[in-house]
Amino acid sequence: MDINLILSQLTLEEKASLVTGRDFWNTANIDRLNIPSLKLTDGPHGVRLQKGSDDHLGINESVPATCFPPGCGLAASFDTDIAKSAGEAIGDECLANDVQVLLGPGVNIKRSPLCGRNFEYLSEDPILAGKIGASFVNGLQSKKVGACVKHFALNNQENNRMSTDSRVSERALREIYLKAFQIIVNESNPTMIMSSYNLINGTYSSENKHTLTDILRNEWDFKGAVVSDWSGTNNIIKSVANGQELEMPSTFGVSSKKVVDAVKNKELDIKDIDTAVLRLLGVIDRLTGNDKSNTSFDENINHEKARQAAVSCPILLKNEDNILPLSKDKKVALIGEFLEKPRYQGGGSSHLLPTKLDITLDEIKKFSTNVTYSKGYDNDIDKISDSLVEEALLNAKNSDVAVIFAGLPESYESEGYDRDNLFMPESHIDLILKVADVQKNLVVVLSNGSVVDISSFNDKVKGILECFLLGQGTGNAIARILFGDVSPSGRLPETIPCKLSDTSCFNEYPGLRGIATYGDDIFVGYRYYNKKEMDVLYPFGFGLSYSIFEYSNLKLNKDRLDEKDAFLEVTVSVKNTGKVDAHEVIQVYVRDKKPSVIKVNEELKAFSKVFIKAGKTVDVTLLVPYDEFKYFNEKANKWIVENSTFEILIGKNSREFVLSKDVEVIGVNYYNVISFDANNTVYEVLENDIGKVLLQDFVDKAVDRPDISAMFGGSDFFKKIFYGTPLRSLSMMANGAFDDNKLNELLNAINNK
Ligand code: BGC
Repeated sequence: MDINLILSQLTLEEKASLVTGRDFWNTANIDRLNIPSLKLTDGPHGVRLQKGSDDHLGINESVPATCFPPGCGLAASFDTDIAKSAGEAIGDECLANDVQVLLGPGVNIKRSPLCGRNFEYLSEDPILAGKIGASFVNGLQSKKVGACVKHFALNNQENNRMSTDSRVSERALREIYLKAFQIIVNESNPTMIMSSYNLINGTYSSENKHTLTDILRNEWDFKGAVVSDWSGTNNIIKSVANGQELEMPSTFGVSSKKVVDAVKNKELDIKDIDTAVLRLLGVIDRLTGNDKSNTSFDENINHEKARQAAVSCPILLKNEDNILPLSKDKKVALIGEFLEKPRYQGGGSSHLLPTKLDITLDEIKKFSTNVTYSKGYDNDIDKISDSLVEEALLNAKNSDVAVIFAGLPESYESEGYDRDNLFMPESHIDLILKVADVQKNLVVVLSNGSVVDISSFNDKVKGILECFLLGQGTGNAIARILFGDVSPSGRLPETIPCKLSDTSCFNEYPGLRGIATYGDDIFVGYRYYNKKEMDVLYPFGFGLSYSIFEYSNLKLNKDRLDEKDAFLEVTVSVKNTGKVDAHEVIQVYVRDKKPSVIKVNEELKAFSKVFIKAGKTVDVTLLVPYDEFKYFNEKANKWIVENSTFEILIGKNSREFVLSKDVEVIGVNYYNVISFDANNTVYEVLENDIGKVLLQDFVDKAVDRPDISAMFGGSDFFKKIFYGTPLRSLSMMANGAFDDNKLNELLNAINNK
């Protein structure tokens, strides 16, 4: 497609139709110029293609498609290969259904566990979300199907999602909330990004020049097109002018007329609409013209892939007395309706019709017939049922072990609304506590889209397997893990706090009078709990195995790293000293030992999942990019690395570090890169190389004033006060010895270096 030529042949009306969509899921086609339409469909964990009535809330049915683990499960795999292979399989299904763009992955940061859509999102950590997201996109796009990464940005709550103004600092925006998107743009070149419903610092995200143009286009060099969230455009003219290329779904002529009129009235520059059309044509060119001859997919093969993905995700939180894996010789009481009716995906626009569904009870019976089932609760009634509890208690008493399947029924969490608390239904909790009284060998298997409060039973049961949501392979995956066919290898992508009020945004969530203030800033998830030295129930990155791993021999390829080095290579030996072959997740955290600004204690910077046979040792090398030592400096308005010593930590999780080594990182001195004015302090000037030469003597003399320092309780106190004085007040502090000429000479020398 010669997109420049096509642009020159399009009428204004045709251009306007291109940027405003044709119907609910398709972009406009212009047959006279052979411009095909693109079919966009949800996403993310499988194809939700509607052939009957359209909706974006998960109401009407879609065609059967393989249901992979939703984001909450997939991220827990900590496995980029699994994410990639899910993307590839979903790509095949898109091709078979003639879908050009899948609306996913969803990579918003899980700021609060209450967010109703956390099940669809990946993590509280942007590196994990970015890496899993980029691998998924690479898999999907390897099939020539486009990914649409969503929701850009700061859509971290569902309550009032279409009208809330997310107010955030530039630093938290860059380091936490945009970071996953940035990684995905850099590492996988997605064809589309979806703007979010909310406002960002006072401007709707769908017309936010700062995020859409200054950052996404100009800084990150995003090559694709931005589409609105469904009906998320506030003002089509502002959207086109500020960097959103496509409004969806169509408003059937209303928006395109506004665009045409705005160009004619000179409210919208024709150049802006041309830019938008060119970008869209670029995407259309990239995604159409596929060879459609071989586009079927095998449901059975993809079901196996979904099972494979599912088995990589569950997290073993607790395993006292090695209660798991279960022995086939033991009589097992299986309790909970989720065994018959598994909870495996979330509600809303991502809700799809699976091609098959592994029922947990049936899958378990393939491993052992020495099991007895009782329902325990009825999710439709959502009340404690004495008779179901009685039956379960009898079953548990008469067995060697009991396994309760509990968590959150689908209605408890969904797109469109948040949870009010972290509690599971009373009928689930009551059942667990009562069974714990009669059967000490108790395991709880949890299915939920985001963390739940497990504090009431955490100490009363021997085993807990947190599965989050696993897609259609759920039953098979859980059965294999329970009976030891596979060792659990998931890790927590979100912290399980002791209680809701411990979370970083508890006092502010979900905002007040339409404003969500992100006062927790960069301290989200484990970054917050670690800084506050707070107890958590289970930390980010945590997960047990049926095997044991020992780490040794940590090596860094350099002890000094500078800009010329793209990466620091971190190598560690990992030995499987247990009895079973298993996967281990190696996690590298970085801690700045001499931060010049407030920083988090430690941050995940790289991870790798490796399979190690029992008794074997492997050397694993992970790369930490030089750029990952940067932080966003708001005063300089850029990412900078400051000279410092960083500790490289190998973590079993974000709280337990087993090895560490230091590296000197050569960067810049922040005070040498910013410009100074009369409001900079003496301290800041002395940190600047030129300022130090010019001002140090003067300062030393000025603070050497026994008369004044006596008034301030000693020279150290006076020095502190003097160092904190802005230049504009120096003449007073220095008894007139610093006048405007001196001030200007100093500023000129520093700023014109
Ligand atoms: C959701 C998007 C989804 C779109 C289309 C919106 O309500 O926020 O994630 O892709 O609907 O269904």
